[in-house]
Amino acid sequence: MKKYLQKIMCIIVPVCLLCTGCSRQPTAYKSVDTAMGTIINQTIYISADEETAQEILDEVISCIDDLEKNNLSWRLETSEVYQINESAGSGQEIKMSSLLTNVLDQCKKVYAASNGAFDFTVGSVARLWNIDAWAATPQGNGIGKVVENATQSAATEEGVSEFILPTQEQLAEALTHVGGDKSRVEGAFVNLPEGMQLDLGAVGKGIVLDEVRKLLEQHEEVSGAVISAGGSILTYGSKPDGSNWNVGIVDPFNTSQNLGILSLKGIWCVSTSGDYERYVEVDGVRYHHILDPHTGMPADSGVKSVTILIEGEDTSHYVDGLFSDALSTACFVLGVEEGLKLAEEFGAEALFVDNQGGIFMTEGMEQYFHLSN
Ligand code: ADP
Ligand code: MG
Repeated sequence: MKKYLQKIMCIIVPVCLLCTGCSRQPTAYKSVDTAMGTIINQTIYISADEETAQEILDEVISCIDDLEKNNLSWRLETSEVYQINESAGSGQEIKMSSLLTNVLDQCKKVYAASNGAFDFTVGSVARLWNIDAWAATPQGNGIGKVVENATQSAATEEGVSEFILPTQEQLAEALTHVGGDKSRVEGAFVNLPEGMQLDLGAVGKGIVLDEVRKLLEQHEEVSGAVISAGGSILTYGSKPDGSNWNVGIVDPFNTSQNLGILSLKGIWCVSTSGDYERYVEVDGVRYHHILDPHTGMPADSGVKSVTILIEGEDTSHYVDGLFSDALSTACFVLGVEEGLKLAEEFGAEALFVDNQGGIFMTEGMEQYFHLSN
């Protein structure tokens, strides 16, 4: 009998130990880093020790660094986009990675559906505006600094850098090289025409969300996470107490406070494009970083900010982040009326704040959005 009991104990004890191992309460680990030229905020809920948690937080940052370095950057010589831009006009066909092939495939869809309001070939015009030199604050909500009497310079975090307004002639010339329908992207091959330059700035952070989601799914010990890359946010899984994720939407008229929150459960991608994120003011005129690809000028559709919300579908496509980011840019350019239609076409929820402070949203958005008092 004693022997029999001993045997049972031998089985029960390890099973109990195992159980306490699996029922270990998830703990929240947080980090703030800079990657892809923006601030990455991570909160992950994980049932493991601190060391493992730190490894996962680091893995997320490496994943973003690799995306920039290998695929998306127009500035780093090591990236595919850089090499494709370099070869524009050479007649040479370049074979893309499966990641970039998929990205451009999806970008073409948003380009077509938005009648070119979102255009991944806007590079030649974006370079003239020198957007990347404009100030951005650590929250990712870059606040351009007002420059006194300036036509030549713009203040940045580092100091004052050169800012020269592009002339109408320069813009007109650059615009001849813009147009997703002329990009000669066919499946996995691309052969850009002379002067055309890819610019994936409007989808980079959304792509980050899709790739990070894939990475988190490989880690069973992660039960929930909120990852933000500038104006794009991924919610993943759940919190230990089962409460909803609350994602703040910045008030575009007062960026230090929220206009309201989105209350969400599970996997979602949220992207906001606003005229307050990156801009420069010259002689009282605000020039922001979302361009109308038809005019080459900062978009002027009467919109101050647009937030797009897409549920992370249970598919192997992982394009929800990319679409939310692309659509936020496209909707900003299109304005409220056409933007709402575009969002609905993609099954996305949208919330617009116009220049008068009016709030417009898709019907489905109403159940998630709660206005601040
Ligand atoms: P952020 O990157 O601040 O979140 P967006 O997602 O709206 O803002 O993307 C803006 C960036 O995308 C610009 O810095 C520029 O490189 C590029 N861009 C600007 N206008 C367009 C457009 N209409 N279509 C595609 N890309 C654009
Ligand atoms: Mg965008």
